[in-house]
Amino acid sequence: MPVERLATGVGALDRLLGGGLEIDNVTELFGEAGSGKTIVCVEAARRVALAGRWVVYIDTEGLSVDRLSAGTADRLPDLLRHLLIATPKSLEEQTRAVRTGCGLARNRKRPIGLIVLDSATFFYRLTLGADTEDEGRQALTEELGLLVATSLSELVPVLVTNQVWRNLRDGSLEPLGGSFLNHAAKTIVRLERLSGDRRRAVLLKHRSLAESSADFRITTGGTA
Ligand code: ATP
Ligand code: MG
Repeated sequence: MPVERLATGVGALDRLLGGGLEIDNVTELFGEAGSGKTIVCVEAARRVALAGRWVVYIDTEGLSVDRLSAGTADRLPDLLRHLLIATPKSLEEQTRAVRTGCGLARNRKRPIGLIVLDSATFFYRLTLGADTEDEGRQALTEELGLLVATSLSELVPVLVTNQVWRNLRDGSLEPLGGSFLNHAAKTIVRLERLSGDRRRAVLLKHRSLAESSADFRITTGGTA
């Protein structure tokens, strides 16, 4: 039987993913700044929240309410009620937020329909090359381990975003987070900026789908 999917609301991405995010594992979106990672997270969170399930949204980027509420008009109270937002200011706080979020899914007091970690690697990136690099790697490993286990046991889809570094050998943009993150995520999508408001989603890893790509546009209300 095919794994149940959660549609993100970004039509091109959902088609690429055979209907949406698999509910029993971690999906990683990576791409350069402005490639649309947060847009996908916000669209998916809005859909889940407005359908009456709760979203654990761990935001390291300072997401604005304007952005979350765009296009929801009079449903804003309903939307905000179902968003459990954490705004960690360090990697330690991020790890605590992941523990708490996974705990909420596991205690089943509220139906959690999605866990978002945007971005998984903002604070981790700051440890690279510093004395705290080992701790940074350990923290990310713990977080991803918890998210993988929670998704699998609670059947809650997890969406994590990842930043990129430029590989100077060939100029390509590679995901951060080391091999552990890329092993932990069972689905990996690269988002690319095309010209203007056009974006491309490239499916690089999936348990049951071949590599492929699809284009979409960013609009004032979200995506098209
Ligand atoms: P980062 O790595 O910096 O977090 P990101 O991949 O999360 O980047 P997004 O924030 O999802 O990127 O996408 C931002 C892009 O979408 C920018 O190019 C921005 O100009 C565009 N954008 C954001 N809101 C709107 C809007 N309402 N209408 C049109 N374009 C928008
Ligand atoms: Mg972002």
